[in-house]
Amino acid sequence: MIHILPPEIVAQIAAGEVVGRPASVIKELVENSIDAGAREIRIEVTDGGKSMMRVADDGCGIPADEVELAFRRHATSKLASVEDLTRITTLGFRGEALASIAAVSRVTCATRAAGEETGTLIRLEGGEVVSRRPIGRPPGTMVTVEDIFYNVPARRKFLRSSATERRHIDAWVTRYAMAYPTLRFVLVHDGREVFRSSGTGQMRDVLVAVYGVEVGSALLEVLPEEDATVRVEGFVSPPYLHRADRGEITLFVNGRWVQDARLTYAIIQAYHTLIPTGRYPLAVVMVTLLPEDVDVNVHPAKAEVRFRDGDEVFRAVQRAVRQAVTEEGRIPTMQAISGPAPVTRPPELRFPEGAQRKPFQPTPMPLMAPPVSSGAKLPVLRVVGQVAATYIIAEGPDGLYLIDQHAAHERVLYERLMAQRASGIPVQPLLEPVAVDLPPEWAGLVEVHQETLRRLGLEVEPFGGNTFLVRALPVALTSAHPRDVLTEVAQGLAEEWEGKGAGGRRSGEAVAEEEIERAILRRVCKQGAIKAGQMLSREEMEELLRALERCESPRTCPHGRPTMIHISAAQLAREFQR
Ligand code: ADP
Ligand code: MG
Repeated sequence: MIHILPPEIVAQIAAGEVVGRPASVIKELVENSIDAGAREIRIEVTDGGKSMMRVADDGCGIPADEVELAFRRHATSKLASVEDLTRITTLGFRGEALASIAAVSRVTCATRAAGEETGTLIRLEGGEVVSRRPIGRPPGTMVTVEDIFYNVPARRKFLRSSATERRHIDAWVTRYAMAYPTLRFVLVHDGREVFRSSGTGQMRDVLVAVYGVEVGSALLEVLPEEDATVRVEGFVSPPYLHRADRGEITLFVNGRWVQDARLTYAIIQAYHTLIPTGRYPLAVVMVTLLPEDVDVNVHPAKAEVRFRDGDEVFRAVQRAVRQAVTEEGRIPTMQAISGPAPVTRPPELRFPEGAQRKPFQPTPMPLMAPPVSSGAKLPVLRVVGQVAATYIIAEGPDGLYLIDQHAAHERVLYERLMAQRASGIPVQPLLEPVAVDLPPEWAGLVEVHQETLRRLGLEVEPFGGNTFLVRALPVALTSAHPRDVLTEVAQGLAEEWEGKGAGGRRSGEAVAEEEIERAILRRVCKQGAIKAGQMLSREEMEELLRALERCESPRTCPHGRPTMIHISAAQLAREFQR
């Protein structure tokens, strides 16, 4: 029977487009603070946002008689006419975020508009106003979001671990901090400040806060051309700094973070022949053009844009980045980590005075990225011990190595499975098949890719509805739980299809089989690898290091994160002022 859905269900469905996970709440609230002209934005999160998220700003505030309205759907102060849609200069314009957030959580908003005497405190649950009273507070707005998805159990169930949700939040906050260097961002997780940008207006300062002094100061500046209609500026890595995936290519168009496969490709193209194939630069590139030359109203989460003249933008980006990279003129001889000489830095590296390296997500890159040649292989390492049941301490010919046991084992498994792929990955049938329920949007993907999964050693068959039977796993994975493996793989497939995977393509675009296979294997390895917190015997550590020494790219995990930190003998001597 056809019937019209009740309004609360309509609201929850609509909210789903804007609020996918805690990080999307942070993104929307921070965008509102930026639109409100804030100078300082403070973000507090507990439990990766699952229990509480708070964004406080010193912006223009919301007038007392408009506070309820701000939480109504399609209520915005940023658009007045249809023509405005063609020249949007604010991050928000759809009037959907606050309504969507309020529909799926408990929200408290404390705000005071610049010209008003007192502020307003309002509380909403599931989109309904439950209380409201005047309060005294400084001008600005503070929105607190608690118990996200408390009334949408289906979504609450799919929240990932606090650590994962936290990583997504970190990514958003650092993106905005990079794009808005004149604003001060403070990020607090579970009561601990983990990131702060100084608001000096220098993007380089933010990059140092995000990536650490070494990488932050090594990045090359992309300088905008005078009077160009498409202005391109930012920072990109010198050719010797590269990563295993495109995850560190960050693009902004008119101050808005966007995913754009074509522009990402323009940046990668600019490095053509300068970095090894299969490796990617790190870049933060801001494109500015007239608002009427770009359509930002393509996507509810506003993550995609359409250009009036895409070719022109493509060429402008490629040219500007290429110029920054080649003007550098010098590609330092790549030095294997095993080299006995201390790491030589390019001469013009600047280390801002008093700056401290601040390790923060996204993880800092090793200064000398592994070249593809076998020169990147590891020297023979001697196990010294294990710290925090998570890291292996080892000694090599040139100093100390701290190895992340999980990341290292992921790398070992990944290369092993990639090598076995050609001749067939050895499979271990399960004594009893294990039934695994998947969310419907993932189930379809697993079904479609069943053959690929089988080829990679994961024997899975549909068992009615969204349930699958796992019959066999790759031998390398015998300690992992089949349910975890399949769920992880399904999620990997979903991300690949949504264009969020390492491939960085637009959602819906065809995904190459090869990319799919790699994405599956990366996920499989993540589940199969030794976990952090697992005590290892000396023999196990030895075995892991021997296997790592045999890897082609031992210094990064399949997701591109470092497997190890190397502290050279020279660095040690420097630290101890010997
Ligand atoms: P949009 O940003 O698309 O306009 P939102 O639902 O995010 O829609 O916000 C609705 C309105 O609430 C905004 O247009 C703005 O007027 C007001 N608002 C939201 N957050 C803030 C804030 N931090 N400071 C001042 N005004 C705000
Ligand atoms: Mg908004």
